[in-house]
Amino acid sequence: MLDRVSHANMVEMTVTRASGEEITMSNAVFVLDHDQRPLKPVHPAIARRMLDTKQAAVFRRYPFTIICQAGISTGSACPLRLKIDPGSKTTGLALLDGSRLLWAAELQHRGQRIKAALDTRRAVRRHRRQRCTRYRQPRFDNRTRPAGWLAPSLQHRVSTMMTWVARLARYAHIASLSQELVRFDMQRMQDAEIAGVAYQQGELAGYEVREYLLEKWHRTCAYCGVKNMPLQVEHIIPTARGGSDRVSNFTLACALCNQKKGTQTAAEFGFPHIQAQAQQPLKDAAAVNATRWALYRALQATGLLVETGTGGRTKYNRTRQGLPKTHWLDAACVGASTPDALSLLTAQALLIVSVGRGSRQQCRTNAHGFPIRHLSRGKRHFGLQTGDIVRATVPRGKHAGVHVGRVTVRQRPSCNLKGKDIHVQYLRLLHRADGYDYGFSSSLELGEKPSLSPIQPHARRSGWSTSRGN
Ligand SMILES: [Zn+2]
Repeated sequence: MLDRVSHANMVEMTVTRASGEEITMSNAVFVLDHDQRPLKPVHPAIARRMLDTKQAAVFRRYPFTIICQAGISTGSACPLRLKIDPGSKTTGLALLDGSRLLWAAELQHRGQRIKAALDTRRAVRRHRRQRCTRYRQPRFDNRTRPAGWLAPSLQHRVSTMMTWVARLARYAHIASLSQELVRFDMQRMQDAEIAGVAYQQGELAGYEVREYLLEKWHRTCAYCGVKNMPLQVEHIIPTARGGSDRVSNFTLACALCNQKKGTQTAAEFGFPHIQAQAQQPLKDAAAVNATRWALYRALQATGLLVETGTGGRTKYNRTRQGLPKTHWLDAACVGASTPDALSLLTAQALLIVSVGRGSRQQCRTNAHGFPIRHLSRGKRHFGLQTGDIVRATVPRGKHAGVHVGRVTVRQRPSCNLKGKDIHVQYLRLLHRADGYDYGFSSSLELGEKPSLSPIQPHARRSGWSTSRGN
């Protein structure tokens, strides 16, 4: 594994700030001491110099980690905070040293593919049982699920995140964790509902209410159903007609509908069902995600201090700093510990794609279910395994050149690398298959104006106006 020739995945980018100043931004490189204990992460330039002067060697490529020679150190490890923004398809990870964002990643889950694989397996099993076989007793309702059971596609989300928390804790000194636990603060919302507190009370409360309404009304105008438009918080019964400022009296409307409705109630406007729908609070299942709680319990079990935040606060922190919406920047903005001025040392996150470790199916079938080939017992051929990341240097022929990527192995000495058949003699192993593929997330344009303008002092002025029954 130790290899110090290539720095291939230390991708740096030069960002020109609005002031014309050019800066290099890149994920920090993790450093281990001679006994594989984490040291202070360093800038890639320092890591490159250490590799060139043979003070260190490459320990691991993803995430890029170097190991120092005996007696060499980059300084004792400072306690870092790992922040997590769990999503259904992609999870953002951000590693902060105080107010400095050192390292970021986006982890893509494969929940849908797990579900599809299980559905296929179920169909095959059902078919097998429908064929002419002896009588079998039904055994579909004799099983129980343990408390806290999650579907495999959801459990996988928790497991992969814990894999990465454990992995990062090996390469960096992580002292505390932050996790976005809920989309919006139900307690805060309910208090507001009970006490009838106006939603404008405090900027943060406004964000919680908006997140709640966006979720409840599916991000569309309640009246015309238009999407991807600036939506306004709208009083179903206008305040001029005695409507309250409770969340149950709010819906979302586009500017046009809001204006057309005027001082009418929703029923008068021709939408009596809106009024009925607004009375029903959002189901707990939609507001509180079982997977996020399972992750929270798993994170707590690590013994580290876990801070939790709401989606409303994340959005508030991110827009206040004028940062664009990406999964990793959302992660950096999770929780109350987010610094007022986040200083970004990286402009591009490591993209981690969960791809699994292959199938146990030994007999592969064609589209009609007929067996067409059988897999060999061993997974490894010529020292390589499907999923290994390799570099191919092909001197001649139609594939001449250098190719890097995940390889698919065969029993014969020819591998498939990105659709090209390449002989194993040209391959060199870069990274052993570990169930993930790696790349880089789309880069951030920091030189340009952020796509989101910083929020206005009052929510009402920023396209999120309320109809006050005018
Ligand atoms: Zn509308």
